[in-house]
Amino acid sequence: MLTDSHCHLASHQFPQQELQKIITRARSSGITRMVTLATSLKDCATNLEIASTFPEVFACIGIHPCDVHETVDDYMTELKEYAQHPRCAAIGETGLDYFHPAPEGWSENDYHKRQRQFLREHFELATQTEKNIVIHTRDRTGTASLEDAIHIYRDYANKVQAVFHCWPYNLDAAAPIFKLGGIISFTGVATFKNATHVLEAAKHCPEGSFMIETDAPYLAPVPHRGKRNEPSFTRNTAETIATTRGESLDQLAAHTEKTANQFFQFT
Ligand SMILES: [Zn+2]
Repeated sequence: MLTDSHCHLASHQFPQQELQKIITRARSSGITRMVTLATSLKDCATNLEIASTFPEVFACIGIHPCDVHETVDDYMTELKEYAQHPRCAAIGETGLDYFHPAPEGWSENDYHKRQRQFLREHFELATQTEKNIVIHTRDRTGTASLEDAIHIYRDYANKVQAVFHCWPYNLDAAAPIFKLGGIISFTGVATFKNATHVLEAAKHCPEGSFMIETDAPYLAPVPHRGKRNEPSFTRNTAETIATTRGESLDQLAAHTEKTANQFFQFT
């Protein structure tokens, strides 16, 4: 019924021998598909392996912006091979993270510059492989990472569709993304009492312009807030969003599934 469009099943918070149980719980909550995102080269292999083991799981391959300093310069050779894998549904998690401080030995300037370079290279890969792209942006204050990512997206928008995941802003901030043909996705943040603007964004977001995700193991929705998140909790976020939109869960599932099918090229 529902897809968890963004989770990290290769996280050390999910012991691999527990995965079958986690996926079974997801299925019994109506989460019939999960997309697991890689954050580093090593993580790509693990995520693809998980996606090869479980028919409900698909993988995305990419280098997270917080991992660019630990990634070799010629990472693209390996990433290109992973992109050919039959269970690879899109490119990501890539993006720009101006929230976390630069690692030791890096100036903030150089760190962010390398993130922007990687983001462009991920867009190039998406273009070459005719896949879409999953983008993370985060700022300490303001929206510089979002603006920079949109600026880069603009150069590829006629060939690649981007999802800006874990949407933390109001809906107005998404206008330039929609204009480029991109979409956004909502996590459990939409259920948080201190983030009513996010739920408000989900309330008015047009059908076809958004997906639902957990970002598990992070950001568990209410009533699981503070605990380890898992794909079955997609349902809590979906129910909250459906209620605020005045839709039944089935109605919300129907259009978000259509969006996920198109974005991840599920056939
Ligand atoms: Zn993520």
